[in-house]
Amino acid sequence: MTTTLITGANKGLGFETARRLVEAGHTVYLGARNAERGRAAAERLGARFVQLDVTDDASVRAAAKTVEAEGGLDVLVNNAGIEVRGENNSIPAAADTTADEMRTVFETNVFGVVRVLHAFLPLLRRSEAPVVVNVSSGLASLTALSEPDSPAHFYQAVAYPTSKTAVNMITVQYAKAFPDMRINAVEPGFTATDLNGRTGSQSVEQGAEIIVRMAQIGPDGPTGAYLDLDGPLPW
Ligand code: NAP
Repeated sequence: MTTTLITGANKGLGFETARRLVEAGHTVYLGARNAERGRAAAERLGARFVQLDVTDDASVRAAAKTVEAEGGLDVLVNNAGIEVRGENNSIPAAADTTADEMRTVFETNVFGVVRVLHAFLPLLRRSEAPVVVNVSSGLASLTALSEPDSPAHFYQAVAYPTSKTAVNMITVQYAKAFPDMRINAVEPGFTATDLNGRTGSQSVEQGAEIIVRMAQIGPDGPTGAYLDLDGPLPW
């Protein structure tokens, strides 16, 4: 039996990933910072709720203790993430970017991933087939955002893509440090969720596909990769 934790799973891509992995037979811990929303979501899916705010040490430590006491962890999906938007869901301009905005985004998208990894790595190391999926973004790609011909080139904000580029490097470094684990970064594609004011062009079913797929890879699968459904992406 595979046990899986998904952070930020009370809605959006995390919720859909939880739904699919419950369906696939995983024992799923649905992580959410808000107990009411998390419990309700877990009940809908037949998942276990665990309170987990990725920006809060005590909350993450307590979640790791709970999961450890109940039998351990095989798969960790670092999904919780935020994107700061301006008025009318506008993408902030580089000139308007502040250190505070960067700090807010990094606290969840970057430091949150490291906080959760640090707390759950001891559990994952005891698994026979440990897997980590870091939910990155196509906007993490230095190549895509710097190439004038790339469809992502127009995207002007600084904080969000920078945080996801950091997630990619985190993926590379942990994958090297833990060669017995499969640790990958995935790009779900532009998906209609609250993150982007539901402007995304894909459904959550489509967006969650690569997360679900990489959560289920075996020990012979890739590690240290950055992928979407079509395969490896340029860093
Ligand atoms: P979403 O619907 O806004 O879901 C984000 C989830 O993260 C929510 O459950 C939210 O909880 C949770 N969260 C935020 N801060 C948290 C914290 N401090 N601790 C724990 N949970 C926290 O957005 P989404 O589109 O599904 O995003 C999921 C992931 O996919 C993110 O990492 C995002 O960057 C990535 N992504 C999304 C797209 C896209 O087009 N949607 C594309 C590429 C990558 P609350 O309900 O409590 O706020």
